[in-house]
Amino acid sequence: MPGSRVAIVTGAARGIGAAVARRLAADGLAIGLLDLDSAACEPVVQDIRAAGGRAIAVGADVVDEDVVEAAVARVTDELGAPTVLVNNAGIIRDHLLFRMSVADWDSVMEVHLRGAFLMSRAVQGHMVTAGFGRIVNLSSGSALGNRGQANYSAAKAGLQGFTKTLALELGRFGVTANAVAPGFIETEMTAETAERVGLSFEDFTARAAEDIPVGRTGHPDDIAHCVSFFVSPEAGFVSGQVLYAAGGPRG
Ligand code: NAP
Repeated sequence: MPGSRVAIVTGAARGIGAAVARRLAADGLAIGLLDLDSAACEPVVQDIRAAGGRAIAVGADVVDEDVVEAAVARVTDELGAPTVLVNNAGIIRDHLLFRMSVADWDSVMEVHLRGAFLMSRAVQGHMVTAGFGRIVNLSSGSALGNRGQANYSAAKAGLQGFTKTLALELGRFGVTANAVAPGFIETEMTAETAERVGLSFEDFTARAAEDIPVGRTGHPDDIAHCVSFFVSPEAGFVSGQVLYAAGGPRG
């Protein structure tokens, strides 16, 4: 059982991260919401507090080693030692290969892979000390390949290998590591893609839904529900898994 119930969620200002923060708070965890802009997390923090929960907003770029260490230290000081980590912060820099710049490649690798590595390394000591931990990484259906996303699909596939390795290394300390791989979820990220391909978000979403077996696109709460399961104390025998949450079969 957990020694503490403190979670860190990265990229928590909006979209899937905000929904995960709200859901884990409703599950009874105190939440450190990390995002580039701490002020952008405040509405979620206020909602959690208004509902009786504990939460703080921390401005942090997950790519910066010192900033990550300081952010984890602040959460530990103000809320307690974190034993749950959700590596959710993400960006897209979509282009077909021949147009993809080195900066497009590097920035996507950095936020998803370096960010998840730095955050996990900074938090794992608290989990080992507690003899309990839950790490959930946000992969993507794009890990299986997606046109225009050579950088993003490589990073999201990389996160799956990272997840399985953490599961192998940390299992003996009561720490599980799992990945959720969402399909199409309605957020600002998919709105950005709609803009890139020149469609209104409504048309883009409607077209996407045609190819999804359950006949709809996903919402952040669909993913928050999956994360809630992996984070629960009762899920301690499930580790190193990738859960595709895409309204149909993947993988
Ligand atoms: P989103 O709406 O774009 O939100 C991502 C959040 O991450 C933003 O608040 C962003 O801050 C923050 N962020 C970006 N770079 C950061 C950094 N270096 N340090 C800290 N925070 C940073 O994205 P989303 O759709 O909710 O996606 C969340 C995760 O799910 C991502 O990992 C994404 O790849 C994954 N995912 C999404 C979908 C989907 O359909 N939406 C599908 C599969 C997987 P700023 O606003 O300041 O940039």
